[in-house]
Amino acid sequence: MARVALVTGGTRGIGGAISKALKEAGYDVAATYAGNDEAANKFKDETGIPVFKWDVGDYAACEQGVVDVENQVGPVDILVNNAGITKDAPLHKMSYEQWSDVLRTNLDSMFNMTRQVINGMRERGFGRIINISSINGQKGQAGIANYCAAKAGDLGFTKTVALENAKKGITCNAIAPGYVNTDLLANVPEEIMQKAILANIPLGRLGEVDEISRCVTFLAADEAGWITGSTLSINGGQYMI
Ligand code: NDP
Repeated sequence: MARVALVTGGTRGIGGAISKALKEAGYDVAATYAGNDEAANKFKDETGIPVFKWDVGDYAACEQGVVDVENQVGPVDILVNNAGITKDAPLHKMSYEQWSDVLRTNLDSMFNMTRQVINGMRERGFGRIINISSINGQKGQAGIANYCAAKAGDLGFTKTVALENAKKGITCNAIAPGYVNTDLLANVPEEIMQKAILANIPLGRLGEVDEISRCVTFLAADEAGWITGSTLSINGGQYMI
């Protein structure tokens, strides 16, 4: 039987590419999303991947959602915590809501989701948890203290889950992408894109979603079983760590 992979925010952008790549690699894939039914239904029709709608920032919704996925697709062997949002503002102008929404979606979600699948993985003696962090969680970035705090938190979470579950056949790793060509960047003004983003990427271009998804399939494989607690930086040379 094929292993089951669950990808949060798996219907668009980086997550959409991850869902498709895992399906192509032979996994039974389930993808979640938050509210964009049009994009999710289009993705489902095009790929045949079942989609599930819930808010990954809501613990009870994650509990119920994972039960639904496991009933329909099977016990989760690979969890990709990918869903994320931005709500940018400099700290002196940031509202509590901007702070809290970003922490909830990008960091609380890691606990909310991983907590649902970890015991099953431990019982079965196999698991792969892959958390999508960000270059900005590694280096900091003006204007997005909420996002940087959440994404840095993802890295600490990753290392701890790796340590706690290392003897149970479970690996937990993070990917820290640089700037990737998705809707998440749609609101970045052109001047900032050129002068503050592209000018700082040694390879001179944004990343493409497939350049992230191929690294997820790599980490999900049996052959990656000795990699745990790592952060894979994929950023066009922008931040070398
Ligand atoms: P997109 O905005 O293109 O897609 C986001 C996906 O996450 C969508 O499927 C969306 O669902 C889902 N989502 C958002 N909020 C929630 C929620 N509360 N509950 C469930 N699902 C949710 O984002 P990207 O593909 O660009 O980003 C994916 C990940 O990569 C994020 O964690 C992001 O922080 C990270 N990242 C992105 C970078 C980039 O340059 N693009 C750089 C570094 C990291 P719906 O379609 O319903 O809205």
